Amino acid sequence: MAYDTSNIFARILRGEIPCHKVYEDADAVVFMDVMPQTAGHTLVVPKAPSRNLLDADPAVLAKIIPLVQKVAVAAKAAFNADGISIAQFNESAGGQTVFHLHFHVMPRYEGQPLQIHARQMEDAAVLAANAEKLKAALA
Ligand code: 5GP
Repeated sequence: MAYDTSNIFARILRGEIPCHKVYEDADAVVFMDVMPQTAGHTLVVPKAPSRNLLDADPAVLAKIIPLVQKVAVAAKAAFNADGISIAQFNESAGGQTVFHLHFHVMPRYEGQPLQIHARQMEDAAVLAANAEKLKAALA
């Protein structure tokens, strides 16, 4: 299937829709997931258009993984997490709901299961505070 430029992350990348942004460089944007599965759930999104990992340029993947690692390390510290889960879904059957490549960085806490994927909208004030915490940890 072809990349659809009207997907929600493409619109965020174009600045048409707001997000709780943590970091941006020439190749990627990092922002908070609005329906977090754990406290501090963050998305690392390459700017280059691809539906997911399956059609991504390997050069884009080579650049994004070090950023995923950097965000994971910072998120573990910022949110006092016991661990971090990284997730990345491909096509509807693979669990994907937004068709622009992204990596989930989810802080994990001992004994706490993940919330259901893309189900419950978080309070904007909580997302804003978490974005600030993560920004500070990345600085
Ligand atoms: P996927 O299922 O494609 O791997 O994950 C998409 C993620 O995007 C979900 O975790 C969902 O909560 C999140 N999401 C959906 N719409 C928006 C939005 O408008 N803004 C942000 N920041 N996250 C979104």
